[in-house]
Amino acid sequence: MTGTLVGAVEAGGTKFRCAVVSSDLTIVDSCSLPTTDPDITLATVVEFFGRSEPVAALGIASFGPVDLDPDSPGYGSIRDTPKPGWSGAPILSRLSEALSVPAGIQTDVEAAAVAEQALGPEPRPRRLAYVTVGTGIGAAVVVDGTPWRGRHHSELGHIPVRRVAGDDYPGRCPFHGDCLEGMACGPAIAERWGIDPADAGGRDDIWQLEASYLAQLVRVLTYSFAPDRVVFGGGVGARPGLAEMIRAATRTELGGYADYGTGDDAFVTAPALGNDSGLLGAALLARSRLED
Ligand code: ZN
Repeated sequence: MTGTLVGAVEAGGTKFRCAVVSSDLTIVDSCSLPTTDPDITLATVVEFFGRSEPVAALGIASFGPVDLDPDSPGYGSIRDTPKPGWSGAPILSRLSEALSVPAGIQTDVEAAAVAEQALGPEPRPRRLAYVTVGTGIGAAVVVDGTPWRGRHHSELGHIPVRRVAGDDYPGRCPFHGDCLEGMACGPAIAERWGIDPADAGGRDDIWQLEASYLAQLVRVLTYSFAPDRVVFGGGVGARPGLAEMIRAATRTELGGYADYGTGDDAFVTAPALGNDSGLLGAALLARSRLED
């Protein structure tokens, strides 16, 4: 099997990453392209795989909301989204037909959760939650390699949060205003504080407030799914030092009730796979298609 290559696509709202991945999960070829309109973006993905060595299967880790119901006529397509042009975009069918290979699709956070669980440090947790904090906030829970999914993938970025005393920022979610995403996504930090989060290095006040909102999500995850580990990724979420602040805030948030495992230093961590969790999760999904 060493010669079998698979394709991985991480479809993001601002850029797409594509990779050819070997059976030992080495990225042997890759490209990154801006997300423009669906026809151009997906055609560029097809071009990349046309130029590279042939892949035997394809895995897609997609931004959401995406239809993941195999019985739905819109399976593998982006659902209604404010993102211009992308509502109904048939990512899965367009790519699998163009490349003529078996293909699978998950959300970007599901794929990242699968990869962090399967490829992260030992001891490997059986139940892992992955949270991305960047332009938006998304989360997924994986149990023994399988994303937990209801009728639809979860939308844990939109849980309600308790406003921190003294914080009068109104929130920016177009649907809920001051939900978690509305209060704690990267653009909310930028708007509230008037500073790009990437430039907010020494500002403990900013990161303490951020951690106190994100700890409310860890509380929901802990009381809903009781994961062994919660991984924070994304441009804001993977910021060095933030995981430790979230872990401390989570202990306060849980108030000593049913906080099994949260004292573990590894309970809240940055991604072990850096920026590659989603892409490697897509590669694992592609491999699983070969085994079907
Ligand atoms: Zn919301």
